[in-house]
Amino acid sequence: MAFLVHDARHLERPARPFGGGSERSRAGRRLWRVDLLQAAAVASVAVAIALFLAEGGITRFADPGSALTSLGIIAGLAATDLVLVMLLLAARVPLIERAVGHDAAMALHNRLGKPVLSLLLAHGVLLLAGYAIADGVDLVAEAVAIWNLPDLPLAILGFGLFLAVVVSSLVAVRRKLRYEVWHVIHLLVYVAVLAALPHQFSVGGLFAVGTWQWAYWLVITFGTFAAVVGYRVVAPVVASLRHGLVVERIDPVGDQRDGVVSVTMRGRRLAALRATGGQFFIWRFLAAGQWWQAHPYSLSAAPRGDRLRITVRALGDGSASLAGIRPGTRVALEGPYGIFSEASRSRRRLTLVAAGIGVTPIRSLLESATFRPGEATVVLRTQGPAEGWLLDEVRDLCHRRGATLITVPGGRGRGWLTPSAERQGLDLPALVPAVADSDLYVCGPRGWAEGVISEARAAGLTDEQIHHERFDW
Ligand SMILES: Cc1cc2nc3c(=O)[nH]c(=O)nc-3n(C[C@H](O)[C@H](O)[C@H](O)COP(=O)(O)OP(=O)(O)OC[C@H]3O[C@@H](n4cnc5c(N)ncnc54)[C@H](O)[C@@H]3O)c2cc1C
Repeated sequence: MAFLVHDARHLERPARPFGGGSERSRAGRRLWRVDLLQAAAVASVAVAIALFLAEGGITRFADPGSALTSLGIIAGLAATDLVLVMLLLAARVPLIERAVGHDAAMALHNRLGKPVLSLLLAHGVLLLAGYAIADGVDLVAEAVAIWNLPDLPLAILGFGLFLAVVVSSLVAVRRKLRYEVWHVIHLLVYVAVLAALPHQFSVGGLFAVGTWQWAYWLVITFGTFAAVVGYRVVAPVVASLRHGLVVERIDPVGDQRDGVVSVTMRGRRLAALRATGGQFFIWRFLAAGQWWQAHPYSLSAAPRGDRLRITVRALGDGSASLAGIRPGTRVALEGPYGIFSEASRSRRRLTLVAAGIGVTPIRSLLESATFRPGEATVVLRTQGPAEGWLLDEVRDLCHRRGATLITVPGGRGRGWLTPSAERQGLDLPALVPAVADSDLYVCGPRGWAEGVISEARAAGLTDEQIHHERFDW
C-alpha cells in the first residue's frame, strides 16, 4: 500500500473566491514589511559610510596612503553596522519576528557572519597599509606604532572574539560542540562589540564628541543593546512571572520506547501571549539539573484557556529529561516565535506535510488555521499504517474540521516518500492535486523536508506559499 486516505469526504471542494481581507493581501502586507526591513538594513550601511564621506568626500582619496586608509575606515564602519544588524536579527524584536520569521532572521544572521569577518580583516589590513605609506615606514614598524594607539589592544581582542564566534558557527565545528558550549561562545559577540567600541571614538576623530556622527553612532549601538536586553532578557522574565506557568501533567505518546511525551502546562492570562498553532516557545523547566538549559519546542496543541501543550521526542539530555519532570514544576518561557502559522498564509487552501516529531506544529496549526471543509489536506509520513505520533489526534481533528488526511506508511525511499510510492510514480501533486493553489507547511528531518519542498517548487509553488519549520538550528 503506497498511501492511505483516511478521510476525504470533502476532497477537492472549490476554494472560495478571494474577498477584500484575503490571505493574499495579508501575505502581501507581510512581504511589504520584509522589503521595508531589508531596505532599512541596506540604508543603515549606506548611512554608516556616508558618515565618513560627509567629512572630506573625494579629498579623502587624494593619494594612495589616504585612499587605503579611507577604504579601511569604510570597511570598518560597514562591518560594525552589519554586526549591529546581526544582533538585531537575533534579538527577537517582535517586528522582525512577525514579518521575517525566526528561521529566516537567524538564517540571514548566520549568512552575515563570514562577510562581516572579511570586512573586519580588510579594515585592519587596509589601515595598516595606509598608515604605513603615510608615515613612510614598513608594515612591522607601523604595526608597533598602531598597537600603541589608544584602545587598539581592546579592539584587537574584540576582533579575536568575533573570529572565535564565527569559527564556532562553521557547520563542521558546530557539529562537534554541545549546544550549550556553542551558545556560551556565541554570547562573546556582545563582549566583542563592546571591546571594539572605545577605539571607534578615540582613533581617527570621526566620532568627535558632540558631532552628529557621534550622536548617531551612540544611538544605533546602545539602541541595539537595549533591544537585545529588552527582548531577550527583560521580556521573557516579565512574561514568565506574569503567566506563572507550571507543569500540569506528562503523558507518554505512542510506544514508551519512542521516548515521546506530551507536557501540558497551566498558567495565568495566557491569551495575552497571543500565541497560535504552529508557533514555538523557548522553554526552561525550573527543576534541579534542568533550569540552566532552555530548548525550543513547538506547540503541539492550539493554546486553549489557561493551558499550553508541547510534545517532545527524546533526542538528547535535555529532551530526554522531560519525561521525568514532576507536575508542579515551574516553567519560564520566551516567545511565542515563528511564522509557521496563520501569519504567513497566502492562499485559502492548506497542505500540511509532516514526518516524525515534525507533526507537532502541524497538529496545532491544523487545529487553529482558518479553512472550510475541503480546503485542507494533511500528509503524514509514518512507519506503519496505524502508527505515527499524535496520529489519533490528527485523524480526529481532520474528521471534525473536514480536512483530508493521507498517511504514507513505510520505510525511507530515495526522496521523501516510500519505495513503493516511488515505484508507483507518486509525488506531491499526485497526493494533493490542488497543492499548487495552496499554502504548503512542511516540518520534518532536513533532507526529507528538502525533498518535499523541491517537488512543491517543481509543481509551481512560489516562495510565499512554502513554509518550512526547521528543528535543527
Ligand atoms: C523551532 C524549533 C521547534 C522545535 N520543536 C520541537 C518539538 O515540538 N518537539 C521536539 O521533540 N523537538 C523540537 N525541536 C527540537 C528540540 O529543540 C531539540 O531536539 C532539543 O533542543 C534537543 O536538546 P537536547 O538537550 O535533548 O539534545 P542535544 O544533544 O543537546 O541536542 C540535539 C540537537 O538539538 C539542538 N539543540 C539543543 N539545544 C538547543 C536549543 N536550546 N536551541 C536550538 N537547538 C538546540 C542541538 O544543536 C542538536 O542539533 C524544535 C527545534 C526548533 C529549532
